[in-house]
Amino acid sequence: MPPGGRMGGPMGQFLTEEEKKNQPKVTPELLKRVFSYLKPYTKQLCLVLICIIISSFFTLLPSIITGKILDDGLLKRDFKALIYYIALSLIVTLLASLIGVVETYINTWIAQHITFDMRNQMYSHLQKMSQKFFTSNNQGDIITRMTSDIDGVKTVITNTFSSILSNSITLIIAMIAMFQKNWILALVGIVIVPLFTLPTRKAGKQRWKLTNESQQVNDEVNGILNETLSVSGQLLVKLFGKEKYEYDKYEKANRKMIGLNIKESMAGRWFMVILKTFTTIGPMLLYLAGGILMMKYDSDITIGDITVLVSLLGRMYMPVNSLLNIQVEWIRSMALFRRIFDYFDMPVDIKNADNAITPETVTGDVVFEHVEFSYDPSKKILNDINFTLKAGNSIAIVGPSGSGKSTIVNLIPRLYDVDSGSVTFDGIDVRQLDLTFLRNQVGVVSQETYLFNGTIRDNLLYAKPDATESDMIEALKKANIWDFIEKQEKGLDTEVGNRGLKLSGGEKQRISIARIILKDPTIFIFDEATSALDSISEKKIQDAIDPIIKSKTSILIAHRLSTILAADEILVVKDGTIAERGSHKELLSKEGVYKELYETQFSKALMEEDGVSELEQYIWGVQPGDEPHDEE
Ligand code: ADP
Repeated sequence: MPPGGRMGGPMGQFLTEEEKKNQPKVTPELLKRVFSYLKPYTKQLCLVLICIIISSFFTLLPSIITGKILDDGLLKRDFKALIYYIALSLIVTLLASLIGVVETYINTWIAQHITFDMRNQMYSHLQKMSQKFFTSNNQGDIITRMTSDIDGVKTVITNTFSSILSNSITLIIAMIAMFQKNWILALVGIVIVPLFTLPTRKAGKQRWKLTNESQQVNDEVNGILNETLSVSGQLLVKLFGKEKYEYDKYEKANRKMIGLNIKESMAGRWFMVILKTFTTIGPMLLYLAGGILMMKYDSDITIGDITVLVSLLGRMYMPVNSLLNIQVEWIRSMALFRRIFDYFDMPVDIKNADNAITPETVTGDVVFEHVEFSYDPSKKILNDINFTLKAGNSIAIVGPSGSGKSTIVNLIPRLYDVDSGSVTFDGIDVRQLDLTFLRNQVGVVSQETYLFNGTIRDNLLYAKPDATESDMIEALKKANIWDFIEKQEKGLDTEVGNRGLKLSGGEKQRISIARIILKDPTIFIFDEATSALDSISEKKIQDAIDPIIKSKTSILIAHRLSTILAADEILVVKDGTIAERGSHKELLSKEGVYKELYETQFSKALMEEDGVSELEQYIWGVQPGDEPHDEE
């Protein structure tokens, strides 16, 4: 601890307008909650308190000993006493520093453990949050809450809390010592302290305001430079002949900056003048008061006493200043806790029912009954969706982009819950089923595959931790990707890179299919698994998916006719409702949405599949809608 107390954290001394506006209400509940995190460490906190008391006392002790050095050593010409007090001063200073080290260690230990607890609690809470939370919150915000905000707590404990404690204790001890020496001079000292802290605070505030202002103007100037000195910016300026206009704007901002910079430097200068004057005036006033007592009132106060009082006064400056600034840090700390608690308090909207059911046997029937759903209450996404997927069958869902196809399938593993109506699995509402059980029954391959950073093996084991080498190879063969992996130098131990970046889209997709094959869920869901890929990759994936569709309970969202034709039933979704349903033949004869989709989307894809490129269609006049080949 630096002599005379410690300054607060590195944060600014004054609140910004925004911080003032967003000041949290410090209720007893909030405080109780904050302190509940400290509770498990009560023993260690008591130790810190003892350390702070001892080290504050030892830090002040040399000031008190100075009096003895003067009165009993120098003035009495007692050399032994002089050496004794000097040695004592040195020893207590050393002891104070050593205890300070112990205190820092315990403090840091507590702070680290509290943030460890908080991080784990937050991570586990976030994992329970629904998909809605992750899609409606910025990923950056979530990570900031997990990292910077919780790190902030560490600073609050090691800086703010201990600064409040150690500064208050230093002040109390200094005041007690002053009153013990001479109550009149102690009172004079107490009057002087605010005298020399308040003006410097005022000057500091003004300086801070100027710094803020000049920062703003600086941003403005940089903005102008960025805009007008870029290639396209200059082009615009030149083509519109705006050189003079832009110059004037720049010059004006630049001029504003000069004034502000000069004011800022001068405010700094004045700040130093005030600081120096008051730090000199304070002791002088005490000497004066001491002298008056000694000479005019014949008090028995000694030179040593006066020196002690002056020295203690000097040691009070920093703690008083820090405590005056603490209010700002305190508000910031409470805002930090408030932010973290707000996250903790966000309700977990998709969770296990109280008496969640884990069925013993599984068939795999899925029924949607009058399902209504919206992400945001103002916009209905699904409207009265009804369908039955019998175990062993497959359903294809088609429809224009944005019609709600993915939303429908996301309701099955409860990524979202229905607003009304129900989704049942084997006759039980999915909301009644054990979440882990339910999600184990469903395997999803979506357009956006996500592979974790690691090897292909790691990614496969994620789905089935006890899979054997031959299980994996078999799954990879079924997914049409074994040939590729076999050729890799490291085989299954090939690194996929961050998010699988070292692999092509098609390779990633096939590995993710192998992952689902290994998981072997009751229901397979393919959500546009083949879109956004080139036709060769698409074909390979198609070949991997087809046998699954034919043999397993599955739902596929697809844009390719050949995939759709493999399904037992086709649902045509439009604007969140099932507009048509039936087999390909039935739907074509209806002359409705499906026919339209077929003519614009599927048959074109089919032509490309058969090697008729768009260019050829143009050259040969092959019309979309021409009867497809023997797919039916
Ligand atoms: P499809 O799969 O048919 O292309 P989606 O089910 O993905 O359609 O989306 C249906 C509608 O819901 C779209 O209007 C889309 O903008 C909206 N939507 C999808 N996901 C979200 C989300 N997480 N939050 C809000 N709106 C969403």
